[in-house]
Amino acid sequence: MKLNYLRPVLLIAALGISACAETSRSFHTNVTSGKAKITLLYKGHVQPVEGKTFLPWSTHDGVRSLSTSVFLIESGGKILIGDPGEVRKGEWPKIMDKLADIGISPEDVDYVWIDHHHPDHTMHLGAFPNAPVVDFWSIYKDEIWSDHPDNFEILPGVTVVRTPGHTEEDSSLLVDTDEGVMLITHMWWHNDLTPVVDPVGEDQASLDKYRKALLRKADLLFPTHGEIMKNPFKNTEWDGKPYKP
Ligand SMILES: [Zn+2]
Ligand SMILES: [Zn+2]
Repeated sequence: MKLNYLRPVLLIAALGISACAETSRSFHTNVTSGKAKITLLYKGHVQPVEGKTFLPWSTHDGVRSLSTSVFLIESGGKILIGDPGEVRKGEWPKIMDKLADIGISPEDVDYVWIDHHHPDHTMHLGAFPNAPVVDFWSIYKDEIWSDHPDNFEILPGVTVVRTPGHTEEDSSLLVDTDEGVMLITHMWWHNDLTPVVDPVGEDQASLDKYRKALLRKADLLFPTHGEIMKNPFKNTEWDGKPYKP
């Protein structure tokens, strides 16, 4: 495997102009499950900033506004936080308050998972002092960096699956809930299944391959700048176009 995860991570998360953050159909914010319970703590967004260049690196002074969807998974008596990244100003304490309302302190969190290494997905990694960080291939705790296999079941019914494309270091989660299997992924950013072509992706062919492989497995879909929805392509092939409900 290439060691390109060591490259400076200067690229803020890949960005796409999509109105879906506002228009996407909200299916659930909470899925109650006898297997794994998923709670959306904060809904992410991706938006242009007026008068500024949207795509990273296309000019020297581009700016964009984005945040990641922060979520909680409870399974087997363990607690996982996903994508504790950038959020809008003032929102992080509210996320902590939501956790406290559920009865979870930052010290209680057992794992933090990130779908890839861009800072918009990792900004608040340090907020959970006892939680190892899990990415596409390893678990990081204090000074110890431990590898895990692909298709790694980190919690009962919660599996980390490598899905390179946006970056080499991308993974997704397949989560067993009592409403079916949920695919939590950055392969699409938004609930309208955009961007179809990742404008800052490293390997579009790989992205398309893993999209095809995993979408059919999912009853529910959770793009990590969006929110939880039913998978409209559970029983049919995705046509590769933005999804319009
Ligand atoms: Zn990214
Ligand atoms: Zn992102």
